[in-house]
Amino acid sequence: MIKLQGKTVFSGIAIGRISVFKDPDIAVKREHVDDTEKEWKRVTDAKAEAINELGALYDIAMEQVGESGAEVFSVHQMMLEDEDFSDSIKNIIETEKVNAEYAVATTADNFAEMFASMDDDYMKARAADIKDISNRLLKILCGVKRSGVSDNEPSIIAADDLSPSETVRMDKSKVLAFVTRHGSSNSHTAILARTMNIPALIGVDFDDDAVDGKTGIVDGSEGVIYIDPSEELLETYRKKQEELLRQREMLKALKGKPTETKSGRKLNLYANIGGVSDVAYVLQNDAEGIGLFRSEFLYLSKEDYPSEEEQFKVYKTVLQNMAGKKVIIRTLDIGADKQIDYFKLDHEENPAMGFRAIRICLERPEVFKTQLRALFRAGLYGTAAIMYPMITSVEEIREIKSIVEEVKAELTAQNIPFNPDIEQGIMIETPAAVMISDLLAKEVDFFSIGTNDLTQYTLAIDRQNSKLDRFYNPHHEAVLRMIELVVKNAHKEGIWAGICGELGADTTLTERFVNMGVDELSVSPTFVLPIREKIRAME
Ligand code: PEP
Ligand code: MG
Repeated sequence: MIKLQGKTVFSGIAIGRISVFKDPDIAVKREHVDDTEKEWKRVTDAKAEAINELGALYDIAMEQVGESGAEVFSVHQMMLEDEDFSDSIKNIIETEKVNAEYAVATTADNFAEMFASMDDDYMKARAADIKDISNRLLKILCGVKRSGVSDNEPSIIAADDLSPSETVRMDKSKVLAFVTRHGSSNSHTAILARTMNIPALIGVDFDDDAVDGKTGIVDGSEGVIYIDPSEELLETYRKKQEELLRQREMLKALKGKPTETKSGRKLNLYANIGGVSDVAYVLQNDAEGIGLFRSEFLYLSKEDYPSEEEQFKVYKTVLQNMAGKKVIIRTLDIGADKQIDYFKLDHEENPAMGFRAIRICLERPEVFKTQLRALFRAGLYGTAAIMYPMITSVEEIREIKSIVEEVKAELTAQNIPFNPDIEQGIMIETPAAVMISDLLAKEVDFFSIGTNDLTQYTLAIDRQNSKLDRFYNPHHEAVLRMIELVVKNAHKEGIWAGICGELGADTTLTERFVNMGVDELSVSPTFVLPIREKIRAME
């Protein structure tokens, strides 16, 4: 048995097989072959297998993120069937008498280069798809075991690090826990683990071969993972797991109960989501609404800009599923750790302070307008609210308002039905926004405090840098005073203020937040019932 220590980002216990998630580098060698027919058969077999794999991924993505996220897999299936692509592979095998791997890799390079040099942006973007499908074929040809997404058995995912786009593509019903070498407690993988209510560890120094396929126990509260545990330890942990489940069952008694103190002070207790599939966790945990829908996850799950129609369908589904409860959708917040290839953003020295969120939307109004059109249209199907991220000035809000007016005028002129009266608010996640919150409050319908970024910018600590976790202290008096100031300024102008950053879920602060007059807390779904319990115990 091996015991490895890491740092916990979410507690809980997971017992299961460990699956190392990695995109292996495939070194393709050119080899001479005599039997070219056999080599070509290897390619056609691999193609059939890849098409099957993509079919399975399509079904998973349909369930989790809907058609918009699933489409990429059907496009890849079509590309694999493309005759020119196949002809080129076959031709290389036959004329050069070489192995299938070499022919696939060479064809991929040639096609990718051809697409990349085209003038049309859409065609240019196909270069990445060619690489993706060729990698899939190569992995099958080389017998490289794929992990994570295509595994059938639920497993503990061990990885070097996980990007938001990797996690969004995972079949979440197959993930028991996340264990990574890198990553920070404030990363989106950590947020995802909290949403899914599964343990997650970072900073674990493991050897891929020593853990892959082995049985593991992840103890989220101790920050450890046991590999190849003894039967005795397994039994102990099975008992602990049962006890945790029992506690969760007890919390269920709080479902349907109001979130109010004994003296009747009420608070809106909402949940944060990243996509349609998370709504199930929201309903399971009885959140009273959605206080933060991170819409960028819709963009992250795609190979190209999601169309207005695709977005409209997703927002509409979430609103319909929430059946009239409030759903606050945050407009695109990419940049920093959330990078999307097709946005083709320049490399930045300091991305957290760079071209991100609303700044991108104001620079690229066509992207922003597509999302706004989808949002205002979807607003007819429930109680929607729109929230703008990373605001630092009144001017930005004025600019947003004028774009919103254009969008409304265009929809009206086109006779497209929409809801013109959607509540619009902003995230308060920069110290600048805090300091001028009195002025900002005159411009918008609500504030939602993003404590993750607010802590990062206030304490000058990169939230992605795990070396700084020790200094990242969201309990810092500076952050707490800022929250208090924002709530006061909101109330002076008669608008409400909530918290949607991770700090909102910190039960050691719940009492303080209620006493400050915070009107709403939006937390990972798993925290809804523990917070309700805390508030109901208050005088
Ligand atoms: C925040 O910054 O607190 C927040 C809620 O937004 P995100 O974590 O997505 O940046
Ligand atoms: Mg933020």
